[in-house]
Amino acid sequence: MGDIVFQNTLTGRKEVFVPLRAGEVRMYTCGPTVYNFAHVGNFRTFVFQDILRRFLRSRGFRVMQVMNFTDVDDRIITNAAAAGVGIREYTDKYIEAFLADRRALGLEMPEKVVRATDHIEDMVRLIERLTQRGCTYSSDGSIYFRIATFPAYGRLSKLDPSGIQAGARVDVDRYDKADARDFALWKAPKPGEFFWETRIGPGRPGWHIECSSMAMKYLGETLDIHTGGVDLTFPHHENEIAQSESATGKPFVRYWLHAEHLLVDSEKMSKSLGNIHTLRELLEQGHKPSSLRFLLSSVPYRRQLNFTEDSLRQAAGSVERLRNFALRLRQGKFAEGASGMSERAARAAEEFEAGLEDDLNTARALAAVFDLARDANTAMDRGEFRQGDIAPVLKTLERFDAIFAVLVDDDAEKLRALGLAGSDQAPGDAEIEKLVAERQAARKARDFAAADRIRQQLADRGILLEDTRDGGIQWKRK
Ligand SMILES: [Zn+2]
Repeated sequence: MGDIVFQNTLTGRKEVFVPLRAGEVRMYTCGPTVYNFAHVGNFRTFVFQDILRRFLRSRGFRVMQVMNFTDVDDRIITNAAAAGVGIREYTDKYIEAFLADRRALGLEMPEKVVRATDHIEDMVRLIERLTQRGCTYSSDGSIYFRIATFPAYGRLSKLDPSGIQAGARVDVDRYDKADARDFALWKAPKPGEFFWETRIGPGRPGWHIECSSMAMKYLGETLDIHTGGVDLTFPHHENEIAQSESATGKPFVRYWLHAEHLLVDSEKMSKSLGNIHTLRELLEQGHKPSSLRFLLSSVPYRRQLNFTEDSLRQAAGSVERLRNFALRLRQGKFAEGASGMSERAARAAEEFEAGLEDDLNTARALAAVFDLARDANTAMDRGEFRQGDIAPVLKTLERFDAIFAVLVDDDAEKLRALGLAGSDQAPGDAEIEKLVAERQAARKARDFAAADRIRQQLADRGILLEDTRDGGIQWKRK
């Protein structure tokens, strides 16, 4: 296997990935601001991060990933007050929903998931450190970072430093993307607003300081990888770098990986267009978790992904094709020996790895697997596929699924776990296997009426059974 190469936003180049400590990857992920349900654009970034961590793990790295929840900001404080509940209670339900959505998409849990409001003391300490180094000033009880003290400001986002407005301040959580200004590290409370009483005064943290302090607390002062959506590059990640490096004097992050935007029907998602779909809405409309996962992972993360009904249907078809191929491999009866397909499978595995090594080029990796499936299906149709080919082809397919995780059909169970119905028509692998076993038992007991009933039930739900000559049974989806 070759080197892993990542496009690094910081340097603007593709670079060979070498972690600071051999065999170990320390990675930080900006998590959601939990004031509503996450949408499909958010999940594009989270699916990319899942592919990244699965790939690194599959290559033998020990991954330590930290993801935060931003559970305090302007909107959260306003919404919680309007709902008459505390911010903790208000954000709890969105955190729970987000974690359930992640499970539906088959996203692995990061090693550490942390809430900003559990780390106020860490943030206060970091702000004190910045003050000792002369990087801050106070105004009306708020504390600001003085960008002029950090000459490297703008390096990540390639921002023109002349756009920096010296002394101009911004202290809301929503930022103007056009220019850089001194940003709030600590915000004084407005009258009647929720606040923490601390050594640096009453108030609450700014958004950027949360990520710097939690990232460094758990991952050390220099991280291997920091990921996020491209819209976070400026000002959020730029500000994280300024704060962290000013406090420690060390490089904060070695590789910055940013996922591009997701477009819906070729348009940017926006409230006014009404094209912001939450994951739940899409699942309620009858789309499968596996189709969504597949679609979101199929376009390389540095390219824009155009999300359409049609692309979602195609994704469902692609997943179905691979699932049926895996079934055919496992259930098929082939002549003894091996054919050129064994060698063909090994080549596909190499091409699959090469695709992912190349800055996670998922499209290239997927093409390798689909080409293999096509060739193997053709060989089976022609009677050229051999018993000895099964293991090497399955091995490549398992390699694929360790990263893409769509082969096991558990869509129905995942929908049920989210409390979504409509899964009756689409039984999962486990349920089918159970019904097939019951039918076999009925046949053995010579209860042919019961056996026929189960066959019909499965047929009604799109599952075809085929009895084999040796008394076994094969099934597939229509
Ligand atoms: Zn962040």
